[in-house]
Amino acid sequence: MERTFIMLKPDAIQRRLTGKIITRLEERGLKIVAAKMLQITRELAMEHYQEHKNKPFFNNLIDYITSAPVLALVIEGENSIKLTRKIVGATNPQEADPGTIRGDFALHTGRNIIHASDSPKSAEREIKLFFNEDEIYDYTMPDEKIIYEPG
Ligand code: UDP
Repeated sequence: MERTFIMLKPDAIQRRLTGKIITRLEERGLKIVAAKMLQITRELAMEHYQEHKNKPFFNNLIDYITSAPVLALVIEGENSIKLTRKIVGATNPQEADPGTIRGDFALHTGRNIIHASDSPKSAEREIKLFFNEDEIYDYTMPDEKIIYEPG
């Protein structure tokens, strides 16, 4: 089973969308294996978004993501990295398909309510940045055998 890193950004928390967003992931059959509410330090934010450090939007992004609490999650499931990126939708919510989280709940790229890792390498890196291994849980969903075809 593949793990991915999800973060509900400050606008998702303040707009009280956490329940709706998490429900979409859960109803799809994905499993929450770790969750943590925290206010990100500038240091952690810069590390998390290091690939964007030379981009013009970087400072605004860091100001925004550190401005209020976020909810960090580790999600597990078959092909979870690609699948959650599809559920989340395009970076610019105005280009995100209706039915996606960004396509249904957001309007601006700088306020696009959720982060999801974009590759196995970034998922591994981001999970390690936010969670210790003992904060990630191993348990069985009773309907796993119904959700996944055996074999
Ligand atoms: N971002 C922004 N302006 C831009 C591009 C990106 O504010 O022009 C922010 C936005 O919050 C986005 C994050 O930077 O989610 C990371 O950008 P990336 O291209 O990695 O998009 P994502 O993987 O989040 O879809």
